[in-house]
Amino acid sequence: MKIENYVRDIQGFPKEGILFKDITPLLNDVEARQECLSILLNSLKDQKIDKVVGAESRGFFFGMLLAQELNAGFIPVRKPNKLPYETISASYELEYGFDSLEMHTDAIKAGDRVLIHDDVLATGGTAGAVCELVEKLGGTIVQCNFLMELTFLNGRDKIKEYPIFAAISY
Ligand code: 5GP
Repeated sequence: MKIENYVRDIQGFPKEGILFKDITPLLNDVEARQECLSILLNSLKDQKIDKVVGAESRGFFFGMLLAQELNAGFIPVRKPNKLPYETISASYELEYGFDSLEMHTDAIKAGDRVLIHDDVLATGGTAGAVCELVEKLGGTIVQCNFLMELTFLNGRDKIKEYPIFAAISY
């Protein structure tokens, strides 16, 4: 089973010039999903995890599966004004301008061992902002893990102080 075969290239999405990696075939196949989950879990080598943080929105899919397997809490990080309770926020640079992400203030306790998950590591802006949120609440980042890393975009540079794992590298 090659999980790469369940990622589909879409040329020109969401805009011209972008080759988008579509994970919906992977989500739609029970065996591919299980294989991918096993690969992500094995990379943790039985390290204890208290909380899994998933980035909106494609980080929620495997983030929740990981949390369930790890017997850990799940924390959604969301775009501004989506979370109902008190939040903290971190902003990051886009090609043109800035965007920000939010997390509930009570999601993490100081010293919690945290796994950060998203589907894709591209430029690293998203992952960098998620790490900043976890750090603000005093969490210890055990690993940042991704289904895919687009290595040519050098996203690793933005989260280089943390262990990084990607199930697939392009
Ligand atoms: P970054 O902030 O690292 O530039 O981009 C990562 C974020 O953008 C992730 O949350 C991810 O969901 C989304 N993203 C960027 N490129 C792709 C892509 O080719 N495929 C998918 N599925 N998501 C992408």
